[in-house]
Amino acid sequence: MNKQVPVSLPEGYVEFYKNLETWQNKQQFKLKKAYTPVKLDATKILAESNNPIIGSVEFELDGGLYKEVYKELLVLIKEYRSETAAALDKILDNIDQLDFSFLPIKLLEEDQKYFSELSARLEISNELLIFTIDHSLRPFLRLWAEPYYSAIAEDDFRSWNFATICPFCGTKSHISRLRATDGRRFMFCDRCFTEWETRNLYCVYCGNDNPDTIQYLAVENDTAYQVYTCEECKGYLKTFDERPKGMKTDLFIANVETIYLDILAQEKGYTNHDND
Ligand SMILES: [Zn+2]
Ligand SMILES: [Zn+2]
Repeated sequence: MNKQVPVSLPEGYVEFYKNLETWQNKQQFKLKKAYTPVKLDATKILAESNNPIIGSVEFELDGGLYKEVYKELLVLIKEYRSETAAALDKILDNIDQLDFSFLPIKLLEEDQKYFSELSARLEISNELLIFTIDHSLRPFLRLWAEPYYSAIAEDDFRSWNFATICPFCGTKSHISRLRATDGRRFMFCDRCFTEWETRNLYCVYCGNDNPDTIQYLAVENDTAYQVYTCEECKGYLKTFDERPKGMKTDLFIANVETIYLDILAQEKGYTNHDND
């Protein structure tokens, strides 16, 4: 999906994402009461299928419940980003045109054509439509993914070979952490919050591991935020080094807070290969 970086962050941008994450956490907590996790051998499924788990397993989604969560999200967005109110009202007026059992599949398939037609019909921006469908689905995705977080993170490279693709939901990742406790590197999916290990000093996009062509972009006065760049494929990856502070960071927020690093890297000719 097209995630172009805005030139400057609108006022209250990071604050909005913090509120959004808090809201998503609350929704996830509420959904937990209505849901029994599917018992899965997640790493075995990954190793056998070579595909994200969500493509191999049927997760139950109550379209009615999703619609309720969706409507609540529109209320939250309206509260913090009032400039979107008119567009969100248009969605609410035409909410019967949205098929809540079908939308998650289209979102995860990144079906651009489907969303551009739908947003044209609703006469709202495609980006806003996708944002609402995406962020209201995330509490469900995190709820489904959570039981397998530790099995996937501690898999020791046995079952999943795709560094930039989330093994649970298939979303592309562009951020990683160096874990506070041991310095091991984990990719992070900001949709479902799954993390999976990847090698250090290695380009997650093309596999290049020549130290001469893997570099950092230096960030002044900041040792925690790093941007790895690769001269072979011109890729860049934001990385948060937790070791200086010695504690786990919230990568969902870190990713939003460091949009300036995306701008910096892209200005220097690097890409996160999002649209490849
Ligand atoms: Zn994911
Ligand atoms: Zn590369």
